Amino acid sequence: MAAQEFDVVMIGSGPGGYIGAIRCAQLGLKTAVIEKDKTFGGTCLNVGCIPSKALLDSSEHFEQTSHGLDEHGVQVSGVKLDLKKMMARKEKIVGDLTGGIAYLFKKNKIESFSGIGRLKSKNEVEVLTTAGKTETLKAKNIILATGSVPNTLPGLEFDGKRIISSTEALSLNEVPKKLIVVGGGVIGLELGSVWMRLGAEVTVLEYSDFICGATDRQMSKRLLQVLKKQGMNFQLGVKVTAAKNNGKAVSVSFEDKKEGGEKQELQADYVLVATGRRPFSEGLRLDAVGIEKDARGFVKVNEHFQTKADNIYAIGDLIPGPMLAHKAEEEGVAVAEIIAGQSGHVNYNTVPSVIYTWPELASVGKTEEQLKEEGVKYKTGTFPFTPNGRAKAMGMTEGLAKVLADEKTDKILGVHILGPRASDMIAEAVMAMEFGGSAEDLARAFHAHPTLSEVLREAALNVDKLAREM
Ligand code: FAD
Ligand code: NAD
Repeated sequence: MAAQEFDVVMIGSGPGGYIGAIRCAQLGLKTAVIEKDKTFGGTCLNVGCIPSKALLDSSEHFEQTSHGLDEHGVQVSGVKLDLKKMMARKEKIVGDLTGGIAYLFKKNKIESFSGIGRLKSKNEVEVLTTAGKTETLKAKNIILATGSVPNTLPGLEFDGKRIISSTEALSLNEVPKKLIVVGGGVIGLELGSVWMRLGAEVTVLEYSDFICGATDRQMSKRLLQVLKKQGMNFQLGVKVTAAKNNGKAVSVSFEDKKEGGEKQELQADYVLVATGRRPFSEGLRLDAVGIEKDARGFVKVNEHFQTKADNIYAIGDLIPGPMLAHKAEEEGVAVAEIIAGQSGHVNYNTVPSVIYTWPELASVGKTEEQLKEEGVKYKTGTFPFTPNGRAKAMGMTEGLAKVLADEKTDKILGVHILGPRASDMIAEAVMAMEFGGSAEDLARAFHAHPTLSEVLREAALNVDKLAREM
């Protein structure tokens, strides 16, 4: 049978792959997607963003119902957890969304292939189908969007039972009495929060002296305080050396990272190892067409997302940059437009990032530490949630907003918000920065009253020490 021919063959159907494929189809390109897993959607929809947020929301409801309603004059008793139902709800949400992608592929006339994709030549991709056959697709252009997988730590290799990654931590069938989390980054704090709210005693072991190392230091320190107040335990500045599954429990060995530091051991039901993710390109046969990777395994691309083979592109977690779903999506759109002869582009200065703890920590642009390092002169405006009318009404006044603006031009350089629904509030800052806006632009724009967004406005006003409240 003659090989099928496509304008674009996309390998991988995560946020980079599926959004990119849809954009290709919208631009009139005959498009195919190859996915090795049972469902579309990649890490994000299956074992990442979506299931974690479903559990974060459910566990926050449990926490609020158990402890947060009394101050509103709402008396509840006998609050019980039905973990099976909570997990089933999460699975249903994942199923709805991954199924939605299958529908979108059909609607946009994108052909999908179930199996492992690998490069045969510059213009040919082989699919090792789940049915056990090998099929060859001809492609004018190929986009690699094969994403990432969890990092393993020597001495703490995943066994999927007691020594687990985020994937298993999203599907435990019991609430651990004790959970150790290695890595005080995004996954550790989000999934640590889920299980802590459901009743686990959570201890985070972090190598650095700070949690979420790359975030603005003032905000990360504040988040640490808040999480400690909620009951999360932290040991910072420690090196984890080993974990041993003893059948019914796991013991984790660690030591102070300073030389000759004290050696310690902790027991728990599970240890979640969340020390970052690495790009995944196994089995793609990059060598067959001379595609290069950097020392950390990321596929090297130029500013048009082209690899060494100029009709083969790479996007998302597979290439350098923040490992975020919306970053992968925007690269998918940009590369589709570039292939179609348009000028696709991603503005990396305005990629927002959110840690979905409660309160949430959302950021865009530079941190104070980065500005200092770059020698940029800047002004700072901060404002707390405590006096905000809406936050008071909600009973959620923890946190603050911070605006960093250029000392001379007032241009916004960075915005950091720790607070309720910071994830939604950061969009305003992204938009302002996208248009090269100033702190004064943010401060003069209407903000409905009473809303949480007024905190951001007051922080913008405070860049020139003009806040009205307090
Ligand atoms: P992926 O989503 O990893 O998709 C790659 C796809 O390629 C997979 O489906 C894989 O099966 C497939 N594949 C790989 N090799 C082949 C092959 N040879 N042939 C065929 N198919 C192949 N990001 C956010 O922005 N917000 C969040 O809230 C968030 N939460 C997260 C929570 C967790 C627990 C985790 C683990 C991640 C989270 N992320 C979040 C990160 C986000 O999931 C990733 O940045 C995003 O999924 C990357 O998209 P991608 O398309 O590059 O790759
Ligand atoms: P991360 O990079 O956020 O955090 C890893 C942490 O582990 C760091 O603080 C690091 O200092 C620490 N660490 C590294 N080695 C260690 C060791 N040996 N012992 C102790 N601590 C160690 O990585 P993650 O939390 O695994 O998340 C992976 C990726 O997934 C991130 O890049 C993130 O962008 C993405 N993600 C995003 C979201 C979100 O956007 N809300 C949620 C989850 C995951």
